[in-house]
Amino acid sequence: MLIFKGDKLRVRNGVLEFGDAPADVLRDSRDLPAVWQDMEPWCEVEDAEDTCGEASVETEWIDLRAVWQRWGEETFVRAGTAYQYMNWLRHARFCSSCGAPLSAKEEDKGLSCGGCGRTVYAPLHPAIIVAVEREGKLLLAHNTRMPSKRYSVLAGFVEPGESLEQTVQREIMEEVGIEVQDIRYFGSQSWPFPCSLMLGFTARWQRGELRPDGTELDDAGWFLPCEFPDIPPGLSISRRLIDDFVRRRQQSVSALR
Ligand SMILES: [Zn+2]
Repeated sequence: MLIFKGDKLRVRNGVLEFGDAPADVLRDSRDLPAVWQDMEPWCEVEDAEDTCGEASVETEWIDLRAVWQRWGEETFVRAGTAYQYMNWLRHARFCSSCGAPLSAKEEDKGLSCGGCGRTVYAPLHPAIIVAVEREGKLLLAHNTRMPSKRYSVLAGFVEPGESLEQTVQREIMEEVGIEVQDIRYFGSQSWPFPCSLMLGFTARWQRGELRPDGTELDDAGWFLPCEFPDIPPGLSISRRLIDDFVRRRQQSVSALR
């Protein structure tokens, strides 16, 4: 059983808690119909001090990113899936059309309204993330929201009416003012912060010079692998895209020798 308090998960004595639920919970996934039970069981507790009462038990409340760092991607995905449903059910208690209470469906993981019959499902926000290259160099940019000097590949949310390729072109034009070609699908990753699906692409520069937009990005440049600034760690799809670029570049350099 995963135990959430706000957006944090309980860890006891360094172990992500898979034990029993505490006595007072706000929501417990095991109270949902059978069709919902294919995810890791979870419960949500009040924003109160943990009261297990045992002096020998050291309790921490950690965020999802720390789950990945400490227990790897598989556990992160299980916890991230539970988090997305937990967070949705926390906020989707009443119908946004008529205001009547929503209740969990028996047939699928939807909520239905007893007032107007409307059905709602967990939100999922698709976003593209793209590695753009030009003559053996990779486009990396610094986001103004990032306090550190970390640089990464570009990303942005898909808007209604767009194909994914159009989102790639629009985001790159908006953020750095260049046109790209040869857009290819790379892979995807669930990103539960709070409900994104990251869709990775590679692309090649076509025309234009880099002009960071100044609001979302304050710097952008073309980098050889040996010139990389601080880049994202671990197994995030942004890092996978960067590692893939480095691998392909090494292959093309050794092919020339
Ligand atoms: Zn309704």
